[in-house]
Amino acid sequence: MLKSLPQKSNSMENVVRMLDQYTSNDIDVEGGKLFTYLYDSGLKELSRVNDIYVQFLNRNAMDYHAFPSTLHLENDVVAMIGSLLHGDEEVTGNFTTGGTESILIAIKAARDRFLSRKKGEEANQEVAEILIPVTAHPAFRKAAEYLGMKAVHLPVNKDTFMVEPDVVRKHINDNTAVIVSSAPNFPYGIIDPVEELGKLATEKDVWLHVDACVGGLILPFLSKIDVPIRKWDFSAKGVSSISVDLHKYGYTPKGSSVILYRNKDLRKYQLYVNANWPGYPMSNIGVQSTKSSAPLAASWAVLNYLGEEGYLKLARATLSAMEKISKGILDLGYKIVGKPDATIFAFSNEKMDMFEVGAQLKDRGWFLQVQPGSVELGMPPSLHLNSSPVHDKVAGDFIQSLKEVTDALKDREPRSESAIMGDIGAGGEALSSEKVADLLTSENSPLKEDRNLLYELIRHLPANVIENAFKEMVNNDFKASVE
Ligand SMILES: *Cc1c(COP(=O)(O)O)cnc(C)c1O
Repeated sequence: MLKSLPQKSNSMENVVRMLDQYTSNDIDVEGGKLFTYLYDSGLKELSRVNDIYVQFLNRNAMDYHAFPSTLHLENDVVAMIGSLLHGDEEVTGNFTTGGTESILIAIKAARDRFLSRKKGEEANQEVAEILIPVTAHPAFRKAAEYLGMKAVHLPVNKDTFMVEPDVVRKHINDNTAVIVSSAPNFPYGIIDPVEELGKLATEKDVWLHVDACVGGLILPFLSKIDVPIRKWDFSAKGVSSISVDLHKYGYTPKGSSVILYRNKDLRKYQLYVNANWPGYPMSNIGVQSTKSSAPLAASWAVLNYLGEEGYLKLARATLSAMEKISKGILDLGYKIVGKPDATIFAFSNEKMDMFEVGAQLKDRGWFLQVQPGSVELGMPPSLHLNSSPVHDKVAGDFIQSLKEVTDALKDREPRSESAIMGDIGAGGEALSSEKVADLLTSENSPLKEDRNLLYELIRHLPANVIENAFKEMVNNDFKASVE
């Protein structure tokens, strides 16, 4: 039977107690042991923004005529980020709920501009192509699927992990609506050659999007403290739009991002207006209609509270953390993947079982992002870290833990493919999505006992097999509670 509403009201104390029980198994976000999911400034004072968040919770940013504060706040936030990214007065944009929404609506804008320039019969959205380097965030293929576009995946250079302008050039044709680049990409923290791509985009008259979701609020400050950073923002000619998450290195509450455009002529394709109903014409800048002003007001507050001075201080602490940690990692015999440009990076060692390194760090309370890599794409298994200011103080402890784990595991080789197939009882046979889904969901699956086997499967199997199996798993996990 489905769990129903409680017959009687509960006391608020009781509700809070129940919630505490629910969160008891969540990973701990305090103490600087997370290297993913959270960008922690370590500044106590910043938590005062929580009160501002609550104060704006029920202001409905759907209608800026009724709540003019939302327009004012949004225009301020867009200006502050635009100016940081070397935009001139033509630069415009909007506040959104996160990187995924920023990307989705920018790609919609690029698609609709492309279609508006195609004539008649040809203006079928399925012909609009989006060029996506394999290191770009999954939000771009998601946008392509949602928007009915053709996703074209581009390989990256095996040493630099950047997309090469010549490879992009080869894939541009009459149907190319948009080129995607990252500043930096999430897996390895490496900036694509944006300046060269901008030249190419200008030459071919194609939209160029720069995904600075993770980099947008750390790269400008690294530049200001004299870290050499290649051009990636509006100072590079040919850049049409840039996505920047505030809820990463902006240190704002989750649910905050900005999408910026070179000018209004590009942004107009993002907007949605519908007057074809008896109600008041609905005009939305992004995906949502009714939306809380809370993330926007809180973001505005954090930007004003920290200012350039605050962000510079935090960038120094983040850089210092990254330098201490990456030195320790190299000293222990690992390799950093490629040459990271920002303060996120991945490390690997082909002679070691990286998945077990990640698992044993987790046993010691450290949470890194395990990246399975891909045999098909020639990408190594690695562990990914986002450095944050809090990590500057715990870097020594982290390296000590990594040393212990490394000493314990240095004689243990990574598993071979045949061993993996043996461990899941497949004996070398190609695995179907159904079989993998079964492994993911069944009670007595070997994946339950063997905590790294899942990563091995992801690394070795074709992406579409894993995708179908994960859909099955998620479809099973999200089910209405029963009692
Ligand atoms: C986080 C991230 C995104 C997606 O942003 P969400 O806020 O998680 O929706 C896109 N691109 C990059 C490079 C990111 O780091």
